[in-house]
Amino acid sequence: MHFQNLLLLPTIYQAIEESGFTTPSPIQEKAIPIVLKGHDLIGCAQTGTGKTAAFVLPILQQLSQNNPKTNGTIRVLVLTPTRELAIQVEQTFKTLGKYTPHRSQVIFGGVSEVNQLRDLRQKPEILVATPGRLLDLVRQQKISLNDIQHLVLDEADRMLDMGFIHDMKALLKFIPQKRQTLFFTATLPDSIKKLLPVFLNQPIQVDA
Ligand code: AMP
Repeated sequence: MHFQNLLLLPTIYQAIEESGFTTPSPIQEKAIPIVLKGHDLIGCAQTGTGKTAAFVLPILQQLSQNNPKTNGTIRVLVLTPTRELAIQVEQTFKTLGKYTPHRSQVIFGGVSEVNQLRDLRQKPEILVATPGRLLDLVRQQKISLNDIQHLVLDEADRMLDMGFIHDMKALLKFIPQKRQTLFFTATLPDSIKKLLPVFLNQPIQVDA
């Protein structure tokens, strides 16, 4: 299969070509059409399988197509377990979205809030964050999640292992119920299967 078969916009396809990707990885081939149709998704994939682009590409496409009003609100939220992963994911949004108008920003704990709050004035539509710092800022009403249309839980099993479940559940209360949710995990033990209905609505599962 070729990336052209996935019917991505020319602006997105151009960035893929420049990244040197020639063919979609298995998780990309399976997940992208499902995400583009608007379904919720459980993606079982390890790091290194191309899982990041499997959600970044169809989210960029939906942002570009579905809602022309770029009104300066946050429409996409990606939660990650670590700051390193948050930085990496946000970089992928920048690289693959370089020919789209959608701005992204990363938020994580352990550093001063000042710079992060200053950058928010640029009105990113895509926010990549670790749960604890984000919850702090949402509770202080410095960030609104009222307009989220796409929620991604990346390395969800690690987030749960690291004890972020309470923060994740607390954040859900600030996010609209009508949204698309993508749940990426390397493992799917019973403890996580039980939690899936908290986050997802009629999800389709794909494996790398
Ligand atoms: P990930 O699993 O998202 O951490 O991606 C692992 C690495 O694979 C990253 O360095 C990506 O840039 C690269 N990558 C993602 N998709 C593709 C693709 N379709 N072809 C070649 N490399 C890719």
